[in-house]
Amino acid sequence: MAANTTSNPQKIREIIDKCDTCFVGMSDNYGRPYVLPFNFGYEEGYIYLHMATEGRKINTLRDNPRVCIAFSTDHELFHRNEGVACSYGMKYRSVLAEGTVEFIEDYDEKVRILNVTMQKYTGRDFNYNPPAVNNVCICRVKTDNIQARLSGYF
Ligand SMILES: Cc1cc2nc3c(=O)[nH]c(=O)nc-3n(C[C@H](O)[C@H](O)[C@H](O)COP(=O)(O)OP(=O)(O)OC[C@H]3O[C@@H](n4cnc5c(N)ncnc54)[C@H](O)[C@@H]3O)c2cc1C
Repeated sequence: MAANTTSNPQKIREIIDKCDTCFVGMSDNYGRPYVLPFNFGYEEGYIYLHMATEGRKINTLRDNPRVCIAFSTDHELFHRNEGVACSYGMKYRSVLAEGTVEFIEDYDEKVRILNVTMQKYTGRDFNYNPPAVNNVCICRVKTDNIQARLSGYF
């Protein structure tokens, strides 16, 4: 099945909008890979993550802010010949983004980013209590390489 790779921003947005989870690949100072699922917000050029201020992931990101983030959707098994294992495959739409994490400290920007994320999942903005905003870590991933790949879809 042919796969098409594109950096078309509209295609990338369409795929990311269909995903409710992304998988963030990180690596600490010892080169240990660590991949976790996250909810996220998206604006062209930026992926937003929110997390607790402690734990392995934040230590890993402080060690090394480079990340690689995978999104995928529209998974559909297909085959050319039902009796031939090697003729089976998976149709998919996916996006792979590489970038660098910045930790956001500005209160108003944290609220704005939380609402970018909440808009994605609920379609609305929220008000936040200051302790909740102060106690959450907001990461802005500035992407420097982002590509979509469509396999079995055009
Ligand atoms: C669909 C989905 C969405 C999520 N969205 C978010 C989000 O937006 N923000 C957020 O902070 N977290 C989110 N999580 C949870 C996230 O994937 C991590 O489990 C969590 O943040 C803890 O990470 P940590 O490195 O700080 O954990 P720590 O408690 O420091 O990890 C200790 C050890 O626990 C194990 N571990 C950690 N997480 C997992 C896991 N998910 N599965 C199996 N083993 C694990 C690892 O071996 C790790 O070394 C989401 C999880 C899912 C499934």
